[in-house]
Amino acid sequence: MAAIEMRNIVKEYGDGFKAVNDVSLDIADGEFMILVGPSGCGKSTLLRMIVGLEDITSGDMVIGGNRVNEKAPRDRNLSMVFQNYALYPHLTVFENIAFPLRLQKGLAEEDIRRRVQDAADMLELNEHLERKPANLSGGQRQRVAMGRAIVREVNAFLFDEPLSNLDAKLRGQMRTEISRMQRRLGTTTVYVTHDQTEAMTLGDRVAVLRRGFLQQVASPRELYEQP
Ligand code: ADP
Ligand code: ADP
Repeated sequence: MAAIEMRNIVKEYGDGFKAVNDVSLDIADGEFMILVGPSGCGKSTLLRMIVGLEDITSGDMVIGGNRVNEKAPRDRNLSMVFQNYALYPHLTVFENIAFPLRLQKGLAEEDIRRRVQDAADMLELNEHLERKPANLSGGQRQRVAMGRAIVREVNAFLFDEPLSNLDAKLRGQMRTEISRMQRRLGTTTVYVTHDQTEAMTLGDRVAVLRRGFLQQVASPRELYEQP
Protein backbone atom coordinates (compact mmCIF):
# COMPACT_ATOMS: atom_id res chain seq x y z
CA MET A 1 0.00 0.00 0.00
CA ALA A 2 1.25 3.47 -0.86
CA ALA A 3 1.93 5.86 2.03
CA ILE A 4 0.40 8.75 0.09
CA GLU A 5 -2.00 8.31 -2.83
CA MET A 6 -3.15 11.26 -4.88
CA ARG A 7 -6.05 10.60 -7.22
CA ASN A 8 -6.91 13.23 -9.85
CA ILE A 9 -6.12 16.10 -7.52
CA VAL A 10 -7.29 19.53 -8.70
CA LYS A 11 -6.82 22.91 -7.02
CA GLU A 12 -8.82 25.71 -8.55
CA TYR A 13 -8.53 29.20 -7.13
CA GLY A 14 -11.38 31.73 -7.02
CA ASP A 15 -10.73 33.08 -10.49
CA GLY A 16 -11.03 29.62 -12.07
CA PHE A 17 -7.27 29.22 -12.41
CA LYS A 18 -6.10 25.64 -11.84
CA ALA A 19 -2.85 25.74 -9.88
CA VAL A 20 -2.85 21.91 -9.72
CA ASN A 21 -4.54 20.02 -12.55
CA ASP A 22 -5.51 16.34 -12.38
CA VAL A 23 -2.44 15.09 -10.55
CA SER A 24 -2.31 11.38 -9.70
CA LEU A 25 0.74 10.10 -7.88
CA ASP A 26 1.51 7.22 -5.50
CA ILE A 27 4.31 7.63 -3.00
CA ALA A 28 5.52 4.34 -1.58
CA ASP A 29 6.08 3.65 2.08
CA GLY A 30 9.56 4.94 2.99
CA GLU A 31 10.09 6.58 -0.38
CA PHE A 32 11.89 9.91 -0.79
CA MET A 33 9.91 11.79 -3.46
CA ILE A 34 11.23 15.03 -4.90
CA LEU A 35 8.87 17.62 -6.42
CA VAL A 36 10.47 19.93 -9.00
CA GLY A 37 9.31 22.41 -11.62
CA PRO A 38 9.49 26.09 -12.49
CA SER A 39 8.26 28.75 -10.09
CA GLY A 40 4.45 28.85 -10.06
CA CYS A 41 3.97 25.27 -11.35
CA GLY A 42 2.02 24.24 -8.23
CA LYS A 43 4.60 22.54 -6.00
CA SER A 44 3.75 24.44 -2.82
CA THR A 45 0.03 24.15 -3.47
CA LEU A 46 0.32 20.37 -3.84
CA LEU A 47 2.38 20.08 -0.65
CA ARG A 48 -0.12 22.24 1.21
CA MET A 49 -2.98 20.00 0.06
CA ILE A 50 -1.14 16.93 1.37
CA VAL A 51 -0.70 18.61 4.76
CA GLY A 52 -4.22 20.00 4.79
CA LEU A 53 -3.36 23.71 4.75
CA GLU A 54 -5.21 24.09 1.46
CA ASP A 55 -8.62 22.66 0.47
CA ILE A 56 -8.77 20.24 -2.45
CA THR A 57 -11.16 21.30 -5.21
CA SER A 58 -11.62 17.74 -6.49
CA GLY A 59 -9.90 14.37 -6.34
CA ASP A 60 -8.87 12.17 -3.42
CA MET A 61 -5.98 12.46 -1.02
CA VAL A 62 -5.31 9.15 0.72
CA ILE A 63 -2.74 8.91 3.51
CA GLY A 64 -1.96 5.61 5.19
CA GLY A 65 -5.00 4.08 3.48
CA ASN A 66 -7.42 6.74 4.77
CA ARG A 67 -9.07 9.40 2.67
CA VAL A 68 -8.12 12.67 4.35
CA ASN A 69 -9.76 15.32 2.13
CA GLU A 70 -11.85 16.64 5.02
CA LYS A 71 -9.35 15.97 7.79
CA ALA A 72 -7.72 18.86 9.65
CA PRO A 73 -3.91 19.09 9.43
CA ARG A 74 -3.42 17.85 13.00
CA ASP A 75 -5.40 14.68 12.24
CA ARG A 76 -3.17 13.68 9.30
CA ASN A 77 -0.13 12.89 11.42
CA LEU A 78 2.41 14.57 9.14
CA SER A 79 5.39 16.85 9.81
CA MET A 80 6.08 19.83 7.58
CA VAL A 81 9.34 21.79 7.44
CA PHE A 82 9.01 25.28 5.97
CA GLN A 83 11.50 27.37 4.03
CA ASN A 84 11.46 30.07 6.70
CA TYR A 85 11.70 27.50 9.57
CA ALA A 86 8.61 28.87 11.39
CA LEU A 87 10.15 28.56 14.85
CA TYR A 88 8.54 30.05 17.97
CA PRO A 89 10.81 32.99 18.90
CA HIS A 90 9.84 33.05 22.59
CA LEU A 91 10.55 29.34 23.11
CA THR A 92 13.94 27.69 23.66
CA VAL A 93 15.34 25.17 21.20
CA PHE A 94 14.26 22.41 23.56
CA GLU A 95 10.67 23.69 23.72
CA ASN A 96 10.53 24.30 19.98
CA ILE A 97 11.43 20.67 19.34
CA ALA A 98 9.17 19.44 22.14
CA PHE A 99 6.20 21.44 20.85
CA PRO A 100 4.46 18.68 18.82
CA LEU A 101 4.86 16.30 21.76
CA ARG A 102 3.23 18.77 24.16
CA LEU A 103 0.17 18.79 21.88
CA GLN A 104 -0.08 15.01 22.25
CA LYS A 105 -1.90 14.50 25.50
CA GLY A 106 -0.63 12.12 28.12
CA LEU A 107 3.08 11.88 27.33
CA ALA A 108 5.26 11.73 30.43
CA GLU A 109 7.79 14.55 30.86
CA GLU A 110 10.56 11.97 30.95
CA ASP A 111 9.43 10.54 27.64
CA ILE A 112 9.33 14.02 26.09
CA ARG A 113 12.82 14.76 27.41
CA ARG A 114 14.21 11.53 25.97
CA ARG A 115 12.67 12.04 22.54
CA VAL A 116 13.86 15.65 22.28
CA GLN A 117 17.31 14.45 23.34
CA ASP A 118 17.34 11.80 20.61
CA ALA A 119 16.35 14.32 17.95
CA ALA A 120 18.92 16.82 19.23
CA ASP A 121 21.61 14.10 19.15
CA MET A 122 20.84 13.29 15.54
CA LEU A 123 21.00 16.97 14.56
CA GLU A 124 23.93 18.01 16.77
CA LEU A 125 21.87 20.49 18.74
CA ASN A 126 22.70 19.29 22.24
CA GLU A 127 24.75 22.31 23.21
CA HIS A 128 22.03 24.71 22.13
CA LEU A 129 18.92 23.36 23.80
CA GLU A 130 18.45 26.32 26.16
CA ARG A 131 19.01 29.02 23.54
CA LYS A 132 16.36 31.01 21.69
CA PRO A 133 16.06 30.96 17.87
CA ALA A 134 17.26 34.58 17.59
CA ASN A 135 20.66 33.49 18.93
CA LEU A 136 21.16 30.70 16.39
CA SER A 137 22.72 30.61 12.93
CA GLY A 138 20.58 29.86 9.88
CA GLY A 139 21.83 26.29 9.76
CA GLN A 140 21.06 25.75 13.43
CA ARG A 141 17.56 27.17 12.98
CA GLN A 142 16.99 24.77 10.14
CA ARG A 143 18.16 21.89 12.35
CA VAL A 144 15.66 22.94 15.03
CA ALA A 145 12.88 22.94 12.44
CA MET A 146 13.91 19.44 11.45
CA GLY A 147 14.16 18.35 15.07
CA ARG A 148 10.57 19.42 15.55
CA ALA A 149 9.59 17.40 12.48
CA ILE A 150 11.28 14.17 13.51
CA VAL A 151 10.51 14.21 17.23
CA ARG A 152 7.37 12.13 16.84
CA GLU A 153 6.45 9.25 14.59
CA VAL A 154 4.51 10.48 11.58
CA ASN A 155 3.14 9.13 8.31
CA ALA A 156 5.46 11.39 6.31
CA PHE A 157 7.79 14.37 6.32
CA LEU A 158 7.04 17.25 3.95
CA PHE A 159 9.76 19.72 3.09
CA ASP A 160 9.19 22.99 1.22
CA GLU A 161 12.61 24.10 -0.06
CA PRO A 162 14.13 23.73 3.38
CA LEU A 163 17.68 24.65 2.36
CA SER A 164 17.06 27.58 0.05
CA ASN A 165 17.92 30.21 2.68
CA LEU A 166 21.32 28.65 3.49
CA ASP A 167 24.67 29.30 1.84
CA ALA A 168 26.18 26.70 -0.48
CA LYS A 169 28.48 25.10 2.10
CA LEU A 170 25.77 24.71 4.69
CA ARG A 171 23.38 23.38 2.06
CA GLY A 172 25.86 20.62 1.31
CA GLN A 173 26.16 19.71 4.98
CA MET A 174 22.42 19.73 5.55
CA ARG A 175 21.88 17.62 2.46
CA THR A 176 24.11 14.96 3.93
CA GLU A 177 22.28 15.18 7.25
CA ILE A 178 18.85 14.91 5.70
CA SER A 179 19.96 11.91 3.71
CA ARG A 180 21.38 10.20 6.80
CA MET A 181 18.34 11.06 8.87
CA GLN A 182 15.90 9.71 6.31
CA ARG A 183 17.84 6.48 5.86
CA ARG A 184 17.94 5.98 9.59
CA LEU A 185 14.27 6.76 10.20
CA GLY A 186 12.94 5.36 6.92
CA THR A 187 10.06 7.84 6.95
CA THR A 188 8.21 8.62 3.72
CA THR A 189 9.29 12.06 2.51
CA VAL A 190 8.00 14.60 -0.03
CA TYR A 191 10.56 17.28 -0.75
CA VAL A 192 10.15 20.40 -2.89
CA THR A 193 13.34 21.87 -4.32
CA HIS A 194 14.79 23.91 -7.17
CA ASP A 195 18.20 22.37 -6.62
CA GLN A 196 19.24 19.59 -8.98
CA THR A 197 21.98 18.38 -6.63
CA GLU A 198 19.43 17.93 -3.85
CA ALA A 199 17.13 16.06 -6.22
CA MET A 200 19.99 13.82 -7.36
CA THR A 201 21.42 13.01 -3.95
CA LEU A 202 18.21 12.71 -1.93
CA GLY A 203 15.49 11.48 -4.23
CA ASP A 204 14.36 7.93 -4.91
CA ARG A 205 12.12 9.44 -7.57
CA VAL A 206 11.50 12.90 -8.98
CA ALA A 207 8.05 14.21 -9.95
CA VAL A 208 8.14 17.07 -12.45
CA LEU A 209 5.27 19.56 -12.41
CA ARG A 210 4.57 22.04 -15.18
CA ARG A 211 1.69 24.53 -15.15
CA GLY A 212 -0.15 22.43 -12.61
CA PHE A 213 0.20 19.16 -14.54
CA LEU A 214 2.34 16.21 -13.52
CA GLN A 215 4.62 15.96 -16.51
CA GLN A 216 6.95 13.12 -15.60
CA VAL A 217 7.91 10.81 -12.74
CA ALA A 218 11.35 9.22 -12.97
CA SER A 219 14.43 8.26 -11.01
CA PRO A 220 16.99 11.09 -10.68
CA ARG A 221 19.23 9.14 -13.04
CA GLU A 222 16.64 8.81 -15.77
CA LEU A 223 15.77 12.47 -15.43
CA TYR A 224 19.14 14.16 -15.24
CA GLU A 225 21.46 11.79 -17.06
CA GLN A 226 19.43 11.23 -20.17
CA PRO A 227 21.10 12.61 -23.35
P1 ADP B 1 5.28 26.85 -6.80
O1 ADP B 1 5.33 26.40 -5.39
O2 ADP B 1 5.55 25.77 -7.78
O3 ADP B 1 6.14 28.06 -7.04
P2 ADP B 1 2.59 27.58 -6.12
O4 ADP B 1 1.97 26.32 -5.72
O5 ADP B 1 3.03 28.52 -5.04
O6 ADP B 1 3.79 27.29 -7.12
O7 ADP B 1 1.59 28.38 -7.05
C1 ADP B 1 1.02 27.77 -8.20
C2 ADP B 1 0.16 28.79 -8.93
O8 ADP B 1 -0.98 29.10 -8.17
C3 ADP B 1 0.87 30.10 -9.20
O9 ADP B 1 0.51 30.55 -10.48
C4 ADP B 1 0.34 31.01 -8.12
O10 ADP B 1 0.36 32.36 -8.52
C5 ADP B 1 -1.07 30.50 -7.95
N1 ADP B 1 -1.57 30.70 -6.57
C6 ADP B 1 -0.99 30.28 -5.43
N2 ADP B 1 -1.72 30.62 -4.38
C7 ADP B 1 -2.79 31.29 -4.87
C8 ADP B 1 -3.95 31.90 -4.26
N3 ADP B 1 -4.11 31.91 -2.93
N4 ADP B 1 -4.84 32.48 -5.08
C9 ADP B 1 -4.68 32.49 -6.41
N5 ADP B 1 -3.63 31.91 -7.05
C10 ADP B 1 -2.71 31.33 -6.28
P1 ADP C 1 7.03 30.64 -2.88
O1 ADP C 1 7.73 31.27 -4.05
O2 ADP C 1 7.85 30.60 -1.64
O3 ADP C 1 6.36 29.33 -3.22
P2 ADP C 1 4.74 32.20 -3.42
O4 ADP C 1 5.12 33.59 -3.83
O5 ADP C 1 4.41 31.20 -4.47
O6 ADP C 1 5.88 31.64 -2.46
O7 ADP C 1 3.50 32.24 -2.46
C1 ADP C 1 3.51 32.85 -1.20
C2 ADP C 1 2.09 32.92 -0.65
O8 ADP C 1 1.29 33.73 -1.50
C3 ADP C 1 1.41 31.57 -0.62
O9 ADP C 1 0.66 31.45 0.57
C4 ADP C 1 0.51 31.56 -1.83
O10 ADP C 1 -0.66 30.78 -1.60
C5 ADP C 1 0.15 33.02 -1.99
N1 ADP C 1 -0.01 33.35 -3.40
C6 ADP C 1 0.82 33.07 -4.42
N2 ADP C 1 0.33 33.48 -5.59
C7 ADP C 1 -0.84 34.08 -5.31
C8 ADP C 1 -1.83 34.73 -6.10
N3 ADP C 1 -1.72 34.82 -7.43
N4 ADP C 1 -2.91 35.24 -5.48
C9 ADP C 1 -3.03 35.13 -4.16
N5 ADP C 1 -2.13 34.53 -3.34
C10 ADP C 1 -1.06 34.02 -3.92
